[in-house]
Amino acid sequence: MRVELENLEGGKGEFAHVYQPDELNPIDERVNLIEPAATSGKVRVAGNEVFVNGHINALVQVECDRCLQPVELPVNTDFALDYISGAEYESTAAAELTEADLSLSVFDGKAIDIDEIVKEQILLTVPARTLCRDDCKGICPECGIDRNTGECSCVTDNTDPRWAALKNLT
Ligand SMILES: [Zn+2]
Ligand SMILES: [Zn+2]
Repeated sequence: MRVELENLEGGKGEFAHVYQPDELNPIDERVNLIEPAATSGKVRVAGNEVFVNGHINALVQVECDRCLQPVELPVNTDFALDYISGAEYESTAAAELTEADLSLSVFDGKAIDIDEIVKEQILLTVPARTLCRDDCKGICPECGIDRNTGECSCVTDNTDPRWAALKNLT
């Protein structure tokens, strides 16, 4: 969904959409939407800038970093973004851009792409590391069995080599 700025009355508008998983998936190679995701918010044009704020409610699925089993993560997030058109951005000399301007997003000057915002904001809420549970035992590096659901007879040496060295001394 795109919000066309020329359709905004008085430079203001609202948006609301419920995304079916198919509309956004894959969000990235490890994150997928598993239920419809709702977003709503407001768009306001002020001079050369466009302010977009809103809310996203979603349920995504990621893989456990250790055992690769699916993990569900609820997403409930607010966002507030500040856009400047690409042309405007380029006509502003780099030297004039202050620190605060670096948080600006650039757009084509015509429309704000809500799909992109929703994907980006969902990804921002997904932690870099996800475990299905804190004590996930992971996958055996020898035979590939999921150690949470089964046991194997592979011998994996978990001894820290530094302690092994000490052991040899005694
Ligand atoms: Zn796991
Ligand atoms: Zn094994």
